[in-house]
Parts: sequence; C-alpha cells; structure tokens
Amino acid sequence: MNLEGKIALVTGASRGIGRAIAMELSAGGAFVIVNYNGSESAAAETVRAIETAGGQAEAWQCNVADYGACEQMINGVLEKYKHIDILVNNAGITRDNLLMKMSEAEFDAVIDTNLKGTFHTMRFVSRQMLKQRSGRIINLASVVGIVGNAGQTNYAASKAGVIGMTKTAAKELAARGITVNAIAPGFIETDMTDKLSEKIREQMNAQIPLGRFGKPEYVAKAAAFLASDDASYITGQVLNVDGGMVM
Ligand code: NAP
Repeated sequence: MNLEGKIALVTGASRGIGRAIAMELSAGGAFVIVNYNGSESAAAETVRAIETAGGQAEAWQCNVADYGACEQMINGVLEKYKHIDILVNNAGITRDNLLMKMSEAEFDAVIDTNLKGTFHTMRFVSRQMLKQRSGRIINLASVVGIVGNAGQTNYAASKAGVIGMTKTAAKELAARGITVNAIAPGFIETDMTDKLSEKIREQMNAQIPLGRFGKPEYVAKAAAFLASDDASYITGQVLNVDGGMVM
C-alpha cells in the first residue's frame, strides 16, 4: 500500500478505531489530520505515536456535529495542505436505551454526531475532491445498522443512515473517480464496548463465528485497503469486519 503524498483526515482519531486507522494510513505514507472533539491529550498521544513510528500528523479539534465547525476545519486543512485525498468518517458515540425510555436528547445526540457529522464532512470535502478528480471517502457504519440491536434505536438509525448516504455519495461522485465505501465493524474492543456488561459481552461473543472480539487494527487494515489504489474499482460497498457475525 502506497499512500505517499496523500493528505488524510480521520475524524475521532484520538482513541480506539480512529487512532488505529490514523496509524495505519500513516504507516502507508499519508500525512494524517487527527481530528478529535474533547480528548486533546489522547489526540496528542496519537500524533506522538505516529511521529515515533516515523510518520507525520497534526491534531485538529472539531466537533463533527457542528456544521459550521466542519466547514472551518476543512477550509483550514485545505488552506494549509492544499488537498485532501482521504476522508475517514469514524467519529461516533452511543447513548443506549430501550425505545420506550429513550429521550429526545439521547436520540438527537447520536444522530447529530454519527449521521449528521458524516454528512457535514462529506459535504465540505466533496467540492475539493471533485476539483481534484480523485478522492477516497470511508465511512464507519456498524453491523447494527444492518441487522438492528435492542437498546440502540438511535445508533442503528444513524448507522443505517450512514450506509444510505455512502451509496448515494458513491453514485454522485463516481464520475470524477472518487470512491465512497462503508465499513461495518462487529464487536471491536475499544472504550465504546468496554462499558458493556460481562453478560452482554458473553452474548455477543456467542454470535461471532470466529469466536473472538475484533481489534481496532483489523478495521484499520480494511480502511487502509479501501483508501489505497488497489481498491480503485470498489465503490458504494459495505465491508463487514465482524468475525462473521453478520452474513
Ligand atoms: P471510541 O473508542 O468511543 O472513540 C470515539 C472517537 O470518536 C473518539 O476519538 C472521540 O473523540 C470521537 N468523537 C466522538 N464524538 C465526536 C465529535 N462530536 N466530534 C469529533 N470526534 C468525536 O469509539 P470506537 O469504538 O473507536 O468507534 C469508532 C467508530 O466505529 C464509531 O463510529 C463507532 O460507531 C464505530 N463502530 C464501533 C464498533 C465497536 O465495536 N467498537 C462497532 C461498530 C462500529 P473525543 O474523545 O475527542 O471526543
């Protein structure tokens, strides 16, 4: 995989899957913008890890749920680095609750970050990628957006929405050589899944044919492939990285 000279923006790269994707894209030679919202020191740690491994990166604060802030971030990156070749929409949150107990605030928070956040960055990056006549967009969905999950009405809606937007953007941008794909992870060990009870973890594990939870690095390898020239004829797809959980 050769990503030399590419500028990559990875949202939510301070921790978890986003950090692993930032590291993997950097290992391929890309300069990585490490976006974060609240975790400034964790984002600095991602940048340090990239630099220690011989790569280059810069941390960039932006709440992806904020339309104007996303416009500012992307304009700022373009002013400084002149192009954006890879956009990975990874920032995401959960606010789980049963349907009959879910508050409007819980529903809105998840939609605003996971779904609207993905729209915001794609909206502002697409103009530049159309001008460049090239680009790679990779959106983090979830198997939950395909099969649903009790207690995650908001999250499932956001991720099903991400899949619909991915396919739509893929159709709109294909004529200029831009590919747009989604990755649907299953159960990956990060802060997001750490908070689940032992009972839920056991139930989840029982549904994974490969018999183990995933690591952020597994998702990062798939993202790096989709970002590479080797994936130039793949667009509008949803790639499950889930140990066979959904097939
Ligand atoms: P995580 O460990 O909780 O990390 C979430 C990341 O998103 C953090 O870097 C966080 O940054 C960032 N973030 C959250 N809200 C943001 C906002 N408004 N603006 C900018 N950044 C924001 O989560 P993860 O498990 O790595 O998940 C990464 C993605 O994969 C998410 O989209 C998630 O839905 C998806 N996914 C995960 C799993 C899994 O099993 N872990 C499964 C399927 C899909 P700050 O800390 O700076 O706020």
